[in-house]
Amino acid sequence: DSKDFDEEVRSVCPFCGVGCQVSLKVKDNKVKYVDGVNGPANEGRLCVKGRFGFDYIHHPHRLTKPLIRREDAPAKGLNVDPGDLASHFREATWDEALDAAANGLKGRGREVAGFGSAKCTNEEAYLFQKFIRQGFGHNNVDHCTRLCHASSVAALMENVGSGAVTATFNEIENADVAIVIGANPVENHPVAATFFKQFTKRGGKLIVMDPRGVGLKRHASHRLQFRPGTDVSMLNAIMHVIVEEELYDRQYIEAFTENWDAEKAHLANFPPEKMAEVCGIEAEVLRDVARTFARAKAAMIFWGMGISQHIHGTDNSRCLISLALMTGHIGRPGTGLHPLRGQNNVQGASDAGLIPMFLPDYQSVEDDGVRSAFHEVWRDGEISGQKGLTVVEIMDAVHDGQIKAMYILGENPAMSDPDVEHARDALAKLDHLVVQDIFLTETANYADVILPASAFYEKTGTVTNTNRQVQMGRPAVTPPGEAREDWEITVALAKRCGLNWHYESPRDVFDEMKLNMNSLANITWERLEAENVVMYPALSETDPGQPVVFGDGFPRAEGRAKFTPASIVAPDDVPDADYPMILTTGRQLEHWHTGSMTRRSLVLDAVEPEANCSLHPATLRKLGVEPGGMVRLTTKRGAITVMARADRAIAPDMVFLPFAYVEAAANILTNPALDPYGKIPEFKFSAVRVEKA
Ligand code: SF4
Repeated sequence: DSKDFDEEVRSVCPFCGVGCQVSLKVKDNKVKYVDGVNGPANEGRLCVKGRFGFDYIHHPHRLTKPLIRREDAPAKGLNVDPGDLASHFREATWDEALDAAANGLKGRGREVAGFGSAKCTNEEAYLFQKFIRQGFGHNNVDHCTRLCHASSVAALMENVGSGAVTATFNEIENADVAIVIGANPVENHPVAATFFKQFTKRGGKLIVMDPRGVGLKRHASHRLQFRPGTDVSMLNAIMHVIVEEELYDRQYIEAFTENWDAEKAHLANFPPEKMAEVCGIEAEVLRDVARTFARAKAAMIFWGMGISQHIHGTDNSRCLISLALMTGHIGRPGTGLHPLRGQNNVQGASDAGLIPMFLPDYQSVEDDGVRSAFHEVWRDGEISGQKGLTVVEIMDAVHDGQIKAMYILGENPAMSDPDVEHARDALAKLDHLVVQDIFLTETANYADVILPASAFYEKTGTVTNTNRQVQMGRPAVTPPGEAREDWEITVALAKRCGLNWHYESPRDVFDEMKLNMNSLANITWERLEAENVVMYPALSETDPGQPVVFGDGFPRAEGRAKFTPASIVAPDDVPDADYPMILTTGRQLEHWHTGSMTRRSLVLDAVEPEANCSLHPATLRKLGVEPGGMVRLTTKRGAITVMARADRAIAPDMVFLPFAYVEAAANILTNPALDPYGKIPEFKFSAVRVEKA
């Protein structure tokens, strides 16, 4: 019944980086249903997750009381039944639990590491990184950006001087050509995908490049289903044609870039006729794509984790940046570089400094001036000038005995880390693990202290979407039982660890963030409350923000962006006789990341209740498996059994596996080898053996 509510609250969808604004219809402290409202990113639209995936917040598995591991609990492992918490944990008061959490952390300096969350607000991310840096004197703090776009950010920082998108995805309405590469927005950024489809209806040319035949291909003018892991050869071949046929923008290159001669010379080694054998795309198609992109009046490039999650992820992004620079498709309406962000606040959490090499606003921890500016505001404690460890490195450091205690807020490394048994063993090995979350996640199974937190629709705070739009999130309901907002918990813990913190509200935190974050210039709490959203950079107190940036130069030396040539690097785990196929992992429309929320959502779980993988029908026939039958997937890390679907869009030598299902956890199989720049694991390529189960 559309009248079955007595309050409407405007907030932001808690799932993907599109950042759709929502109207929550509330009655009796329950969200009854959700409508899309006219936010700048969604213009009233919502996907199935935003519309139907809200009810997890009322699930009976919500954590409602602080918990402390019992002294006589069974050994730590993935062995806690949410219906039988009492065998492993005892309920505690907040004072008792916070004392226990703090006592296991304080005074341990470099033995402590922290994972914050891209699902928390900007203010919570800021407090979390400050707590680790100020409280323990080092930078061992990271979050899931390490697993999604760390390599994209590394390449953007290196060559453009800024880690954020240069243009909003809505700018596609001003483009005549767009490349979408290594991304499946139809499932992962569904509302953004609707704008991409509209673009093609208006006659825009959409070039889709992906080893899987992803959902946008029906709308594409060019479909390049290239061999997995061959991005650099394909992109260099396209750029080779642009050089050979002199389709590049000489004026733009001279005015705004550096290192062109080196790039040009390097590209001579990648003729499309030679690269066609490597990437599996005919030379004439590569030439046509090069001409189409270079001759466009305005062209954009969008990419996702198919680009970033490789040991050559930074090189992949370097190529995309070079392609935009050489054609001058950057800094004007309808042009630009746009890595599609995953989580609803992964942009904001990164901006807020939840990364081991940067203080807020990507200011290097190694810069004395930066540290002293933060010290002016933070006062107590020294800020370390040494870069900290990243997500995967932290788990290795636990195994090495360097890290012995962790504080994990809203992240689930027991499901999301590559080679996840290695991560689970590390969690079990910790002396002290504090987990702050809304459910007993797989990671919370290993906790010594569990602090019950708030879901996104239960708290106040700002989030920043893939478009650099800072939006106000508002609480619609109160947290269940004794659960608290995350910022309050972090503040209480920091105080118990001896920090002299005085924050009364998220607004106090936001006001402090503004002191050292130029990105927030002209964005005030009052504006966000009144306008719901302001995009950075905002040039004045009335400017809604700039959708396209870098029209007159880049935030690098002399205002010039840089070409960084990229060479071919083979994937780390190459197929052989024992593991002859290629495994790639990702998300599917109905489930979100490790499934902790969407698998507790009635509608979403009803649509996709079972762990599954996708194989080409010919591969299934060869294996003697009917669609819906079970297969066993084995890599050098481990094995799982999972239901197989037939999917003509996947190459016969590939298998696609979503990572949301604990009963067939994809990351038991994945490779922890890291990109040397972004330190991102190679989730998108593992050698695998597929057998009938
Ligand atoms: Fe939420 Fe993303 Fe769907 Fe929008 S597109 S409703 S932000 S999951």
